[in-house]
Amino acid sequence: MTTQPLGRALDYRAPEGGCHLGAFVEVPLGPRKVLGVVWGAGQGDYDLSKIRSVIRVLDAAPMREEMRSFLARAAAYTLTPMPAMLRLATRAPGLGDPPSMRKVYRRGGAEPDRMTDARRRVLESLAQYGDLAFTLKELAELAGVTPSVVKGLVGQGAILEEDSPRDLPFARLDPDLPGKALTADQAAGAAALAEAVRSGAYGTTLLRGVTGSGKTEVYLEAVAATLRAGRQALVLLPEIALTEQFLHRVEARFGAKPAEWHSGATMTERRRIWRMVGQGQAQLVIGARSALFLPYRDLGLIVVDEEHDTSYKQEDGVLYHARDMAVLRASICGAQVVLASATPSLETWANVEAGKYRRLELTSRFGEAVMPRMGAIDMRAEGLPADRWVSPALKREVDERLARGEQAMLFINRRGYAPVTLCRACGHQIGCDQCDARMVEHRFLKRLVCHQCGESKPMPHVCPSCEAEDRLAPVGPGVERLGEEAAALWPDARVAVLSSDMYGSARALKAEIAGIAQGAADIVIGTQLVAKGHNFPKLTLVGVIDADLGLQGSDLRAAERTFQLMRQVAGRAGRAEAPGVALLQTYQPEHPVIRAILAGDEEAFWSAEAQERRQAGVPPYGRMAGIILSGPDVAQVFDAGNLLAQRDAPIRRIGAQVFGPAPAPIARVRGRHRVRLLVKADKSAPLQEALSVWVAQVKLKGDLRLSVDIDPQSF
Ligand code: ADP
Ligand code: ZN
Repeated sequence: MTTQPLGRALDYRAPEGGCHLGAFVEVPLGPRKVLGVVWGAGQGDYDLSKIRSVIRVLDAAPMREEMRSFLARAAAYTLTPMPAMLRLATRAPGLGDPPSMRKVYRRGGAEPDRMTDARRRVLESLAQYGDLAFTLKELAELAGVTPSVVKGLVGQGAILEEDSPRDLPFARLDPDLPGKALTADQAAGAAALAEAVRSGAYGTTLLRGVTGSGKTEVYLEAVAATLRAGRQALVLLPEIALTEQFLHRVEARFGAKPAEWHSGATMTERRRIWRMVGQGQAQLVIGARSALFLPYRDLGLIVVDEEHDTSYKQEDGVLYHARDMAVLRASICGAQVVLASATPSLETWANVEAGKYRRLELTSRFGEAVMPRMGAIDMRAEGLPADRWVSPALKREVDERLARGEQAMLFINRRGYAPVTLCRACGHQIGCDQCDARMVEHRFLKRLVCHQCGESKPMPHVCPSCEAEDRLAPVGPGVERLGEEAAALWPDARVAVLSSDMYGSARALKAEIAGIAQGAADIVIGTQLVAKGHNFPKLTLVGVIDADLGLQGSDLRAAERTFQLMRQVAGRAGRAEAPGVALLQTYQPEHPVIRAILAGDEEAFWSAEAQERRQAGVPPYGRMAGIILSGPDVAQVFDAGNLLAQRDAPIRRIGAQVFGPAPAPIARVRGRHRVRLLVKADKSAPLQEALSVWVAQVKLKGDLRLSVDIDPQSF
């Protein structure tokens, strides 16, 4: 038989009695034991004496056919080596290493021959939990006894000791609890989605509506329809939007907690979810993008909320876009996809236009609330001193809100205290030693942090270049510095700076956000963190400190991103009763993107943007791929890049073009130099096949690495 260990496809002798396709096995590899997945029957003539045997089949459900074909096709699409793809799907603890089984304890049948107080407490504690199993420590603590008491009861047969831990089941979700009474718009959308779900076939729908129009209410009805059909549902959220608030809403709708899959989950929790999803016992998973790779037994619906969000593109390791992978997976398992957004990506627009996706619109905000009024503050006329960022005009607006007991938000898309640290003696700007990036001062942490590689060091007092003392000065604003300015401008207001630095954990941050929603702050200052999915009912004003920020640079998606972000941020204001206002501080109010944001004319913006991209032949109207070569030696990296550029016959054969090599958008990361080649092809060209032939021509010597980025986010 052939397995895919977490290395490459290899042949092994099957254990006695054979094993299932997709089974997880432990196999020898050189001197090591590694995890493998049974991928197929072996072919050809083997000298059986030379083939090593599977050590054992792991006690885990085999990987289903649907999952294997999803992974294989995802690997082919993203040009990811199969082992790396498999690793995404086997990240559950207990699978990575040969599982170390804990002992667990549950109620046994027998009566102990001698009953003591301590023993009675143990048995009573267990009786309360029916058939549930506990670890020794848990059970002893629960009963308030020493572990030896439990062990004693095991000896008597009153308690069973078992190897395989039984995971706590999830409580049943009830799709038939009464939901909110939907508006006509919402009800029509919900009915259309429910019908699509009942078809049991694949389909993708764009659910578009401004923030607060009730998209969540509507897709929760699609979830309900899925649960009624006895299938599983997955709701993907940008990691940052996975809040208590959201989970409570889901719990309120279905009467029990869904499974929550995110990077902060404990190993025990992940393991539990992994198994329960595989058994079909977890009916609904709310998760970040990696939840796509869980072993669902029968997935009937995938919701991608805020589908335009850039965090859906994984930029490290396996380079995939969760939206595209959701569509792929759904098409394989006959599921519906709902892409929800107030500001859909151009990719999704194009698919709607091409008739591949359906489109549902929610046209108004729920209740009386309307989209905020948008306005610009022309910074050229405000005469602001160099180290101030809140204009007098914006200050007056905030004053008004505070006087009425409402909340105001100041938005700046920059983490930390100041983006640049400059030596006033020699002009040196402190950069990262490993990357082509400036170090960002984080005053709360008292450190300089590289936002590229995460490297950090204590804030120095001496310039690393000229050694002048105490001449280092912050330049420009970050969210922390803006917080300082706000505290000075409004000494009596409660100012909350929402920066992940300041909270020990994601939980603490979530708690802070929940508090703000209930009115625990007057002025909220934040980065992207606040632009997404949070509901602040008292917020009536949003001031964007630097609306021009995203428009700098040469990224072709800059306009799309800025447009989406500004709409998203503006949408925070005036969600409930009180109407909202969003003000953009800008030095270029006549810029076409700023004008489009102010006019709020989305259709016009998108058609102009679509036309430009169509003319340039770039996504979504053409296809692109980035080839990133990296290594410690810059000359060697460029040599490899030039070699590829010369041998471009496989690319030219499909009518595509190669650009570069040029320094990658981030030219140095963690000490490795990076160059990029870009390939631009027609929409219909067989890009992946051509790419794999092409890149196979360079032998990667030494520490040189190559990665392929299909549909790069910046180009
Ligand atoms: P979106 O996902 O489009 O931003 P939500 O579904 O979060 O919108 O709705 C915004 C707010 O309005 C939420 O607090 C939600 O509970 C409320 N809401 C939306 N539709 C209804 C409804 N039909 N009945 C009661 N409340 C609703
Ligand atoms: Zn760095």
